[in-house]
Amino acid sequence: MCCDDLVCARCAGPVAEGRCPTCRAARAELHHQSGGFVLSPQLVALLLLVLTAVALLAAHQVQ
Ligand SMILES: [Zn+2]
Repeated sequence: MCCDDLVCARCAGPVAEGRCPTCRAARAELHHQSGGFVLSPQLVALLLLVLTAVALLAAHQVQ
């Protein structure tokens, strides 16, 4: 994954193994940013664009 190459500054172990709380916190933060559903500004803008397009299409069909 994204943190395989990272070495912890506290326990000098691979962050991916999560040997200490610092490892686990860093790993959780990295995975939270890269995976799952994160509502980034770009994603919000894209959603607004899609909603606007759908609304325009729906209004066009009514007329
Ligand atoms: Zn560590």
